[in-house]
Amino acid sequence: MKICIHRGSNEIGGNCVELHAEGASILLDLGEPLMGSEFGEEALPEVEGLTDGTNPNLLGIVISHPHMDHYGLVKLASPELPKFIGREADKLLRAASAFTPLGMNFENVHHYQDKQPFQIGPFRITPYIADHSAYDSYSFLVEAAGKTLFYSGDLRSHGWKDWAFKRLLNNPPKHVDAMLLEGTTLSRESDGSTVTEADLVDKIAAKIWDTKGIVLAGLSGQNIDRLVTFYKATLKTGRSFVADAYIAHLLHSIGRPSLPDPTSGAMRVFLPNRMKRQIVRSQCFDVVEPFRRSRIYPEEMLTNNTKLVVSFRASMADDFENVNLTRGGRLIYSMWPGYLENGSSNLRDWCAEKGVAFDILHSSGHATFDDLFRLVRAFQPRSVIPIHTLAPERFESLGAPIKHIPDNRWHPI
Ligand SMILES: [Zn+2]
Repeated sequence: MKICIHRGSNEIGGNCVELHAEGASILLDLGEPLMGSEFGEEALPEVEGLTDGTNPNLLGIVISHPHMDHYGLVKLASPELPKFIGREADKLLRAASAFTPLGMNFENVHHYQDKQPFQIGPFRITPYIADHSAYDSYSFLVEAAGKTLFYSGDLRSHGWKDWAFKRLLNNPPKHVDAMLLEGTTLSRESDGSTVTEADLVDKIAAKIWDTKGIVLAGLSGQNIDRLVTFYKATLKTGRSFVADAYIAHLLHSIGRPSLPDPTSGAMRVFLPNRMKRQIVRSQCFDVVEPFRRSRIYPEEMLTNNTKLVVSFRASMADDFENVNLTRGGRLIYSMWPGYLENGSSNLRDWCAEKGVAFDILHSSGHATFDDLFRLVRAFQPRSVIPIHTLAPERFESLGAPIKHIPDNRWHPI
């Protein structure tokens, strides 16, 4: 088996890895870059037959999870090329496509499941569900031509699926020749402490207790783990959680019984102005129909603002123009703080203007150095290959032989 990292050996985002064995190839992820100057078509890796389907030896794209930097360029691949993704990740992206370009309707799609090996040509692939900030995320064990590679995808140990990380530590795959391991956090400063999703419930609940007015939950619509965190924190304080119609639509489409049900009234649903206009334009009224019983309208939000925690993104700012609605309120920003620093979000300014308190309460979607260390110690791989990192040199302290493979070079496993 041979490996070529098309992007990601010294970069966070745009993951794409090609594996080759017995004359056949597959891609692991085909993501949109998050940095640099090349995006879209310009960023497509050079893989024979990727866009025109003329390479019969290219057998498919295996997508680890529904984050843009892992699947974002798949839309440019040949529609005939088979795509492999988790069933619920696929549902999430299909549902999202009704609202945002961050969604996707894959053609020629196949679903894999946790610990159910499947075969693509000479490649036997075993998915391992992973704890990560994207819903339905996986790592993969790939066996071909007598060699074994483990691709971590993105993972962590401190979310609601912490059991998945523990399972990897306690029962790792045996005889791994190469471990292709993400190192997102290695370039970021850390004080060594980790905020878990469970810790966040308490921290968020404390802030809600401390707020007289409305609480705005600033979270990414597709981060279902964080939604669950806000939902639990809200219940602790006796308030009601209000999801915008986009989040409600995602939850309803996934339809997993362990997630809060936006059709039951347990969670209220509001339709922000911008989404209302979008729905009228596209005549997609059926998207909000299931939430008729749970709907909350602006008048009730105004009257009951002190009893609500409402999901919020910058695109909904004009729904909260009324000072009587936001007086005494607080925005709990719960996304990567880098978005604030690099200027892609001006929510801090918006809060200052409105007199709304602003707090950042967040937990990373990625493993700490200590977690990566524990993982490498459990796996005892013959080599570790850095990916999805800006600090590949820090892998040297992980306690295993490190193979640095620069982008676009083929290397035997
Ligand atoms: Zn990710």
